[in-house]
Amino acid sequence: MRVRRLPVQSGAWCNRRMPDSTSRTIVHSACPHDCPSTCALEVEKLDSHHIGRIRGASANSYTSGVVCEKVSRYAERVHHPDRLKVPLKRTGAKGSGEFAPLSWESALDEVAEQFTRAALKLLMTRLSEFSLS
Ligand code: SF4
Repeated sequence: MRVRRLPVQSGAWCNRRMPDSTSRTIVHSACPHDCPSTCALEVEKLDSHHIGRIRGASANSYTSGVVCEKVSRYAERVHHPDRLKVPLKRTGAKGSGEFAPLSWESALDEVAEQFTRAALKLLMTRLSEFSLS
């Protein structure tokens, strides 16, 4: 599998799938980013699987209907046709863009194994420094 990088066209997704305005509802939420602002959000729910515009909660004095650019365009990211939906493992050289899909279980096992290996390597390095000093 080769991963393509496409330029994101502003509003392209929204223009293609915008249902009529009577089916839209506003859902209250909070920003999932690890950001100190912790913005309260109003998310436009277009249907059971799609979101539209995201705004800062109008009733919240901090957001007052406004939210940062990266979150206001979440719909483009979430519904982008090239969004990754399964883990991919690099199969070619770095930068080659060659990846193969793998299961979530395998991906998590690989990450845990790499973390464990890195932690053991660091521990062994520290122990050898300690024993030599
Ligand atoms: S909406 Fe933007 S500014 Fe607000 S918490 Fe999320 S990332 Fe931070």
